[in-house]
Amino acid sequence: MAAIFSFKCASCDEIHEGSPSFSFRAPDPWLAQPEAVQEAGHLGSDVCRYEDEDGRQFFIRVVLEVPIHGVADPFLWGVWVSLSETSYERYVDTYDAPDTGDRYFGWFCNALPWYPDTLGMKTSVRPRANKQRPYIVLEASDHPLAVDFHQGISVQRAQEIAEAVMHGEA
Ligand SMILES: [Zn+2]
Repeated sequence: MAAIFSFKCASCDEIHEGSPSFSFRAPDPWLAQPEAVQEAGHLGSDVCRYEDEDGRQFFIRVVLEVPIHGVADPFLWGVWVSLSETSYERYVDTYDAPDTGDRYFGWFCNALPWYPDTLGMKTSVRPRANKQRPYIVLEASDHPLAVDFHQGISVQRAQEIAEAVMHGEA
């Protein structure tokens, strides 16, 4: 029987309800670009692109779902991955009618708080129907985020991460 996640916060003493959900408004590499590069590029709610000295860079927004043991809704991270130009064009072309059989290789492009460095982790992007953002599958490894993704996390660990992120102790 899956429950709804809620806990009394050790930091602020409030009750936080619902599974935690945190998102990033842009890929970290975008934020590192000078204004001129950003102005010539594009940052939307689902896609991002720019050109730097290394060439053209393409990103899409995706969802990382980390299961919480015994809880219905997963711990959600709204993050960005970089795609090849071919994958990016396919994603944009099929945006209104995604092929859920498509698989894109993506590099993880946000540094999540609390975890050791997550930039550059390998992911497989899975488009979803019904206007839902694609979800990602992390390549199995001994990185704590990959372990959490594949094995799920305890309610206690979810609470610990959420408190750290919400109250800036990450
Ligand atoms: Zn709190």
